[in-house]
Amino acid sequence: MNLQHAGIGMTSARTRGRMIERLRAQGIRDEAVLAAIGNVPRHLFVDEALAGRAYDDVALPINYGQTISQPWIVARMLEVLRNGKPLGRVLEIGTGCGYQAAVLAQLAQEVYSVERIQPLYERARKLLRELKVRNVILRHADGSAGLADAGPFDGIVMACAAPALSIELKAQLVVGGRMVLPLGTGEQFLYLIERTEQGFRETRLDAVKFVPLLTGKV
Ligand code: SAH
Repeated sequence: MNLQHAGIGMTSARTRGRMIERLRAQGIRDEAVLAAIGNVPRHLFVDEALAGRAYDDVALPINYGQTISQPWIVARMLEVLRNGKPLGRVLEIGTGCGYQAAVLAQLAQEVYSVERIQPLYERARKLLRELKVRNVILRHADGSAGLADAGPFDGIVMACAAPALSIELKAQLVVGGRMVLPLGTGEQFLYLIERTEQGFRETRLDAVKFVPLLTGKV
């Protein structure tokens, strides 16, 4: 991450520090996740007009009807995904503005991230290049069935809610791999899916609110 990037001054570092303290108070315990979040200038991922709210614990609009995830949910998903261990190859479905991908980049060896909306994909690509994030590979594609040609993955995170768990997606997890995703149409819950030697274990976690998974690319 290039901390020389314009706009990343002490003020933003201090504000991020306060955000980290808030995440800690909200129960996030994984220091690697907290440090990774502390390193990413979230204000650069939203429109300038919203930059003043970038470190509040809220989802913010990123155009095209989409949102940048709330910091707590990014922290929660990555803490569950990591399970206290460094990650190898990870797939993210729903790049959006690229914020979570930039956080993940510090926690995983290699990150594949898929976005179906072309202008979002392009903006994320430009910003991650400017920030010199080199281990994230972005694809403009429908990620609802994962990314079979790049898998299998040690971890999969989905930033949009599907009505049900896709079989193709599960198949792209290595044995010992973990997937964290929101499921449900009306009421949504975060789920942890673990692939074991015997099969898959599903654990329901928090009630959440994500934008829906849509099919096709635009
Ligand atoms: N990871 C982002 C969250 C973006 S919101 C962050 O860091 O804040 C979820 C994103 O999922 C949206 O940009 C939406 O366009 C995308 N999405 C929805 N359905 C998709 C699909 N089938 N394939 C890829 N991306 C999808």
